[in-house]
Amino acid sequence: MSSALLDEATRIAREFDYPADQVQRGVDEYIKQSNEGLAKENTTLSQIPTFVTAVPNGTEKGLYLAVDLGGTNFRVCSVQLHGDTTFSLTQSKIMIPRELMASGTSKDLFLFLARQIEAFLRIHHNEHFEAHLRRRRDGNQMEDLFDLGFTFSFPVRQFGINSGTLIRWTKGFNIPDAVGHDVCALLQSAIDELHLPVRVAALVNDTVGTLMARSYTSPGETGTLVGAIFGTGTNGAYVEKLDKVTKLKDMKDAKYDTSTGEMIINAEWGSFDNHMSVLPDTIYDQQLDADSNNPGVQMFEKRVSGMFLGEILRRALLAMHNNPDLGLFKASKTSSVSLPSDSLFYRQWGLDTSLLSQVEADTSKDFVEVKAALKDHLKIENPSDAECEAVKIVVHAIGKRAARLSAVPMAAILIHTGKLETESMVDIGVDGSLVEFYPKFEEYIREALREVPQVGVAGDKKVRIGISKDGSGVGAALIALVASKDE
Ligand code: ADP
Repeated sequence: MSSALLDEATRIAREFDYPADQVQRGVDEYIKQSNEGLAKENTTLSQIPTFVTAVPNGTEKGLYLAVDLGGTNFRVCSVQLHGDTTFSLTQSKIMIPRELMASGTSKDLFLFLARQIEAFLRIHHNEHFEAHLRRRRDGNQMEDLFDLGFTFSFPVRQFGINSGTLIRWTKGFNIPDAVGHDVCALLQSAIDELHLPVRVAALVNDTVGTLMARSYTSPGETGTLVGAIFGTGTNGAYVEKLDKVTKLKDMKDAKYDTSTGEMIINAEWGSFDNHMSVLPDTIYDQQLDADSNNPGVQMFEKRVSGMFLGEILRRALLAMHNNPDLGLFKASKTSSVSLPSDSLFYRQWGLDTSLLSQVEADTSKDFVEVKAALKDHLKIENPSDAECEAVKIVVHAIGKRAARLSAVPMAAILIHTGKLETESMVDIGVDGSLVEFYPKFEEYIREALREVPQVGVAGDKKVRIGISKDGSGVGAALIALVASKDE
């Protein structure tokens, strides 16, 4: 094997080391920034009050609707909560026509959404629908409405559990007349125009949905504390004491239930430490950020989530490729790889994070999985064993750093809420391809948690981490349920 290549891979890997003392500094800083976020607006950690003031315990019952607008598809589903931690879900997915995403009016878009809800009800809940229409015709005011949870994955300023104004569109949507308007009211008026038996009961953030879904499906004595997503992006929500959310005092118009003394906070932790006081920073992180379309923001997310890890890896491998002494993937005495000039290896964002999972999962002596991944993703054929080993070393370092960084907000929330001291078990629900598929992601998180003295081995033993699927389906339904009980 070419020892120069392996030496360099090892040197680069070391740049991604994120040792215990740095984890600790990260945790301390996270606690500081989270307290700032609870006190005022426009801080690095937004700490958004969600007005969801209770978490489920698995006994909730009823039939609820949930819709999810956040990308290319609009999802409509109904969720039957059986009251024994289980549920049945029926759903349909509709692609949103391009012209409605970017050139129509908000009325066009929301009427389109309402029509999809109507079609869904006619197919799956026609009896209920017809009964509602009959009652309307007979002038009977007795309403039997479906409560609906609306997952809307764009930045909103929330004023209550079912109201929030759109700050700006992202992800290819651009309908200017919706900006500054209450998206729940827009959906409700389109629903009312079609006379549908539906009340928009809650505006839902996907991390809150993840927390709620987890709390319903695997209840403990006190419910789930944190919902966290490690997918395209990363974010988390957690249960906070109401009296710690001091900025609520400034939100005079906000209406919410105070009886539980708690509220779920959407941390928006992707933007933790945007000013880079404690986050680790390699040359590859710096290049990625400088060439991104939003330099200087989402700095935590850029080191942790699926959208970015592949690009960090690509840049590290490219450095070895361009180094004339190493010539990784460059036909020479030491490499028989001949990369075409249009290879994705040369293209920004050309390397998907799933390659890291595939490489990390390889336990073979002859790099079977690494070779398959390089071929599938980058059309790299016949890499040498040294090249495969070099890729493995760097992948491992990037993935492990991401997992150890993920432990930072988790440890900070565990410490800040004091739950490890008062509870015998603390539950965390997680979702997203990275945490689901990257080998040992949870194990590396736990390793880092144990290294934080205020968590330690004893604290880590109390932490239960579990996958929570379908926050925008069952999670949104549960938030609609909580909201309808508030009325
Ligand atoms: P989303 O967060 O968009 O709802 P996912 O949780 O599936 O959806 O996350 C998608 C992200 O995960 C993408 O950035 C993709 O590159 C990455 N990804 C997909 N498959 C894997 C995998 N097997 N291992 C690690 N990351 C993956």
